[in-house]
Amino acid sequence: MNISDLCAEIMKQNYTSILGKNYSKLAILLFLKQNNFQLKKTSLMRVCQFTYRFFRDNIQYGKESNYVILKNIEQYMPEDLTLIVKTELNEWVVNGQNVILLEEDSVLTNPSITLSDSDLIMAHSLTSTIIKQNFGEEVTYKEDIDINRESIPFSNYDDYVQFIANTRLYNRGFETLNYCCCCDKTGKDLVCLHINPLLDINDPNNTLIFCYEHGELYFRKYFNFLKSGKIKIQQNNNNLDNRMHLSRKVLLNKRKFLEEE
Ligand SMILES: [Zn+2]
Repeated sequence: MNISDLCAEIMKQNYTSILGKNYSKLAILLFLKQNNFQLKKTSLMRVCQFTYRFFRDNIQYGKESNYVILKNIEQYMPEDLTLIVKTELNEWVVNGQNVILLEEDSVLTNPSITLSDSDLIMAHSLTSTIIKQNFGEEVTYKEDIDINRESIPFSNYDDYVQFIANTRLYNRGFETLNYCCCCDKTGKDLVCLHINPLLDINDPNNTLIFCYEHGELYFRKYFNFLKSGKIKIQQNNNNLDNRMHLSRKVLLNKRKFLEEE
């Protein structure tokens, strides 16, 4: 096995079809590129998350896609992309050279292949060329969020909510929650707030989604959530209820940002 296998595998993929440009295949290519084409067993869910982020951060590409889910990505969550990602990965493997492999619910680079530095440089350069040829522009993508703490208008609720709404952090908030975590309200008016603004402000897990009203009460410290998921009401309000709590799924990666019991 050598570089020609990796490059051949990249070249053999269908980035366009009679239906147009295949942006979901592009997402797979960008995922491989971000990982320097070397994947240890990586869950399909992780590829779904990357793909979701790519389309959520670049709404224009989803609009050009053939998949309804990608066209309306704001109404969906990463796990909703499972079928699309599986389809694209299956096709990748079928058209490939045994470099990228699928094993049950994970994807990996064939462990028997060793890629040298020059192999990888070639693969990166080939990727750029293929993207330009098929999509008519250079598309690069990394998932990073780099909000500068000093730029966040923490002193005013509306300014703060507006600021976050224009960042990728807002998009990340919806990966685990697409309704108000207090009243289950859905819709366009949801806001994304930091759980604890004193901790890592760029960590997607340091977020919760609220309706506008509950967001404001959280911002004004009327209540907090404990590591158990239970609400801790600091100041009574008609819109707060002791039965409110975070679900297990929401708590999963957010505990470290929540208050000790
Ligand atoms: Zn609410």
